[in-house]
Amino acid sequence: MIIGIDLGTTNSLVSVYQNGKASLVKNALGSVITPSVVGVDDEGRIIVGQPAKDRLQTHPELTVAVFKRLMGSDQTIRLGSLELKPQELSSFLLRQLKEDVEAELGITVTEAIVTVPAYFNDLQRKMTKLAGRLAVIDVERLLNEPTAAALAYGAHEELETQILVFDLGGGTFDVSILEMFDGIMEVRSSAGDNRLGGEDFSQIIVKDFFAYLVEEHHLAEDTLRSDFLPKILAECERAKTALSTQLEYLLSIEINGQSYQLTYSRDTFEKAAQPLLDRLILPVKQALTDSSIKLSELDQVLLVGGATRMPMISKLVARMFGRLPSREVNPDEVVAMGAGYQAVLKAKDAQINDVVLTDVCPFTLGIEIVNELGGRIISGVFSPIIERNTTIPVSRMERYYTTADQQEYVGIKAYQGESRHTSNNVYLGLLEVPVPKGEAGEQAIDVRFSYDINGLLEVETTVVSTNEKQSIVISNNHDLSEDDIQKSLEKLTAMKIH
Ligand code: AMP
Repeated sequence: MIIGIDLGTTNSLVSVYQNGKASLVKNALGSVITPSVVGVDDEGRIIVGQPAKDRLQTHPELTVAVFKRLMGSDQTIRLGSLELKPQELSSFLLRQLKEDVEAELGITVTEAIVTVPAYFNDLQRKMTKLAGRLAVIDVERLLNEPTAAALAYGAHEELETQILVFDLGGGTFDVSILEMFDGIMEVRSSAGDNRLGGEDFSQIIVKDFFAYLVEEHHLAEDTLRSDFLPKILAECERAKTALSTQLEYLLSIEINGQSYQLTYSRDTFEKAAQPLLDRLILPVKQALTDSSIKLSELDQVLLVGGATRMPMISKLVARMFGRLPSREVNPDEVVAMGAGYQAVLKAKDAQINDVVLTDVCPFTLGIEIVNELGGRIISGVFSPIIERNTTIPVSRMERYYTTADQQEYVGIKAYQGESRHTSNNVYLGLLEVPVPKGEAGEQAIDVRFSYDINGLLEVETTVVSTNEKQSIVISNNHDLSEDDIQKSLEKLTAMKIH
């Protein structure tokens, strides 16, 4: 039996073809959604999914999430005494999903269709396939996520069609334009915003709730942040989801035995979220321009990602395209459903071929900086220079300034990743740049990043006042040998899995 797997950044889902249609399969907990979280329990056994997610807050050193963003990097992730690579973590998820299907349906899974973002590069795709091998599932072919969404909407039944996929997930926004021609699906363009997702919408409510607690009830903001943040976040997340189906929500929280409540309306939420909505427009325009497909030529606009359940999103999309987006398939299930359809087509030897996008940078590249926010110095901030999805080869430059008086050196640390904090991104390399002493902010350094099709990144610094240059070349290609793969297999076999 071939299964379809949506191996997501936050959640993963699995589907099979049964009784004439693709359907999602429930895990042992009765849910079709398995959080993409891996951890180690108190007995040192690997745990996957919800049980691992439940321990994220209480056992952060024994649990890991969002590792899909590290796929293709050489980063090692520590889980207690274990050291794991991103593909090894992904293999635990794949294995879990496969075993869930076998347990639920009493069948043997031999092969899987696994979805990947359209912008994943060669190495990231290779590592995803390797994760399959480590999980003892044959992953012969991968499927682009937007293509999967299109299949779930029946694109394979069309001879020719042009589709825009609008994917707003938890932390990222992706727009892809697809063209189906002669049975081949091509990703014509892909654009997005790597720091915009459902979580930013939750933050809008968090900000308003904080303002209410601090300004109306004179609660100390610092104490709220240090002692009650997870509780406030969870309540605001509930509010956001509820406001997708109702017009008002009663935000409610208990602090030191006292209960605080605020009626929050969808209308207030939508007005406050306007700046976020504005940011969704640019990538759509960019994707249209890059694809050379006109808005009027699009046959369908598909919504993908849980955050597109917010009515303000479908309204915005309807306004942009002058028509209602398709939303018959649940936006958080559509990619997995599409993978299931591809599994069916493959079984019938009629799978859709999709063309891989190879000329975009698959992750954001930038450096670590220190920021000042409201008088507070914040270190470890990621400052992007080349944004993910930029067409390559590309060369971009940004100017940075010294932050301390009499500073003699500036450390330019290069990172790749999509997090605002460098600690969650992949460290690539360092340039120690000597600068003439002076006051803070007096010396400027130009940092140029050049990234090419072979995954080579050149970082060049120029001290503006002296014109002194330095550069390093960082190779992003950490391909594995058969020997490495065998070692990885042996390591995983020796591990206890719950
Ligand atoms: P995904 O990565 O596609 O699973 O999207 C997850 C994001 O969608 C998270 O930010 C969720 O809070 C958000 N989300 C899920 N369901 C809803 C809903 N009903 N209304 C608003 N946002 C939602």
